[in-house]
Amino acid sequence: MNGRVACPRCGQDWLERVRLIQLGEEAIRCPECEALWRQRVELRQDTFVDYGTFLRSRGRLDPDAPGEVEILGPVTTDTKPAPNILGLNQSMKDLYERLRTLPFPNLGKRVGDFALYDALLAGCADRASRGGCVECSEVPVPAEETVNQVELLRKKDHISAEESAFLQYFDVLEQLRVALERSKL
Ligand SMILES: [Zn+2]
Repeated sequence: MNGRVACPRCGQDWLERVRLIQLGEEAIRCPECEALWRQRVELRQDTFVDYGTFLRSRGRLDPDAPGEVEILGPVTTDTKPAPNILGLNQSMKDLYERLRTLPFPNLGKRVGDFALYDALLAGCADRASRGGCVECSEVPVPAEETVNQVELLRKKDHISAEESAFLQYFDVLEQLRVALERSKL
């Protein structure tokens, strides 16, 4: 049996996992005092944000209106900080962090517009991970030459280390692009 987790702020109720429907994010909320935590790892008394204040800060002017929150279930002691709990923004941040640890692939320098695509996408991710807003039109898509190159490599039976590094890098960019697409409304 896994125990439920009491609100570290008020201690009056059990925390529940919620989906902030209009923001496309998951978070943890206290039904009693409406303290909100956006990440499982942040569950401390001094890390909450007020639910209503947070929603209003994100442009949701009537936080208590129906259709803003879906209750997903209780937070239990074995609730892991998995991506579905951390929410889309967090997985976007994770991907961005991962991208930053990867060296820019040599092959990428020879594929037209790939470096530009990389720079534009990283710029969007950087802004979004710092809480900034990314408009739909700003999230770039890979150029045709890049897409063709990737398709070509995926069909090859044996790829070189350089080609493999390029594909790996491209995959992280693609995941990041999808996460950015999903995080904007
Ligand atoms: Zn509380």
